Amino acid sequence: MDCIFCKIISKEKSTDFIYENDNLIVIKDINPKASIHFLIIPKKHIHSVNHFEENDKELIGEMILCAKKIAKEKNLAGYKLLINVGREAGQMVDHIHIHLLSGKF
Ligand code: AMP
Ligand code: ZN
Repeated sequence: MDCIFCKIISKEKSTDFIYENDNLIVIKDINPKASIHFLIIPKKHIHSVNHFEENDKELIGEMILCAKKIAKEKNLAGYKLLINVGREAGQMVDHIHIHLLSGKF
């Protein structure tokens, strides 16, 4: 499958990793829209929020809890979590991810 995030997850393509566990990775966005811009990405290839299923509930929760953990570790005073759904809303990579943005915008 020609998915840039799957290639990063399999280490076929290198990028700056912030965190990794069995279910997800956190990387630095290559084109940051704020002084802190990370992407929380599940290892499971799911196209978008529109493709989440009932049995992804735990994974969805883990993604949010991971954002909280990273924000705490990085001492972020406040932050935004953003998910683009669909090309019309700006989704360019068809592998679900949460943007974690903080600092200077
Ligand atoms: P979206 O537009 O919501 O699909 O977000 C995709 C994000 O992935 C954009 O902010 C891109 O800058 C980022 N991105 C694309 N390729 C890479 C890469 N190789 N490493 C890190 N971030 C990337
Ligand atoms: Zn993928």
